[in-house]
Amino acid sequence: MARVFNFSAGPSMLPETVLKKAGAEILDYRGSGQSVMEMSHRSKEYEEIIHGAEALLREIMGVPANYKVLFLQGGASSQFAMVPLNLFAKSKRADFIHTGTWSGKAISEAKRYGAVRVVASSEDKNFSYIPATDKGIFDAQADYAHITTNNTIEGTRFRTLPDTGTVPLVADMSSNILSQVYDINKFGLIYAGAQKNIGPAGLTVVIIRQDLLGHQQDCTPTMFNYKIQAENGSMYNTPPCYAIYIAKLVFEWVKELGGVAAMEAVNSKKAALLYDFLDNSKLFKSPVATDARSLMNIPFSAPSDDLNGAFVKEADKAGMVNLKGHRSVGGMRASIYNAMPLAGVQKLVAFMAEFEKKNLK
Ligand code: PMP
Repeated sequence: MARVFNFSAGPSMLPETVLKKAGAEILDYRGSGQSVMEMSHRSKEYEEIIHGAEALLREIMGVPANYKVLFLQGGASSQFAMVPLNLFAKSKRADFIHTGTWSGKAISEAKRYGAVRVVASSEDKNFSYIPATDKGIFDAQADYAHITTNNTIEGTRFRTLPDTGTVPLVADMSSNILSQVYDINKFGLIYAGAQKNIGPAGLTVVIIRQDLLGHQQDCTPTMFNYKIQAENGSMYNTPPCYAIYIAKLVFEWVKELGGVAAMEAVNSKKAALLYDFLDNSKLFKSPVATDARSLMNIPFSAPSDDLNGAFVKEADKAGMVNLKGHRSVGGMRASIYNAMPLAGVQKLVAFMAEFEKKNLK
């Protein structure tokens, strides 16, 4: 069976070596006589897996000792509620930079729990750029300020992080965690759904500065309380055991390839290949401002819906799947997360060149 190049925005490709290793261990995890899926989460073997996953993530992301790493469930969408429930501690005010569909959802949810202010937005141009901000626009008394570091649907990313002064910066990093080096000290809290650069859907990673723990609102459900999750080592209840095991294999893979800096170098090369082609194309164009281009999600389009439709169909036949763009942007979108090999992007660009030659009148 030939594997396809999957350009899906998520769930998305996992490294083949990770899948093979999981396959080899599926019936008998290292002589335990059990699959990781069948194991008690309180067993010695499983404790080694979850602790190993945390240690590896701390190492590859350079997570300082004064931050907790949590392995939760409920996706990034649950964090849209969990963040305000736990962080609206003093003024119950938060500032948001609105850069796309997902920040919009985070804003709507946070409004249920406190006062939310949109301090900058790129909605006027269909979120095709990242608005500039300076420190003065942020409310110094806000409990936190929120950004989406990479906008999965619109294909933009923050090149530089906003300066929020002493206000904790909270980042939805779902679609670019582990793709580029970040200084964790710049953030109060980072969250990410796993299904792009970490592993299977169902796992959600949270990295939180310890001083932000323990200020939850009274109504916060126990499962949504960061402090309780931290005190219980992410095992207040049964964690998503198998997803955490696969994440551990992915973290090992990142480490073996040279860590996040090495990932960033390959990701920059892959993205440059596609953007260079788009910049020189007479058929395809990118809707995104040059200085806001994402390394992970690259929307592009041909001049008509018919051509876009034909492109997606023909690419699929050629073993490049899930290239249809999100309905709010149209056209195509290539999501090229860490596990997309350079060969996948090379094949896509060659296919685009061929398609252009055939269809350019
Ligand atoms: N934020 C971003 C940036 C996303 O890309 C996504 C999912 N594509 C979400 C949040 C929602 O994630 P989940 O499905 O894990 O709730």
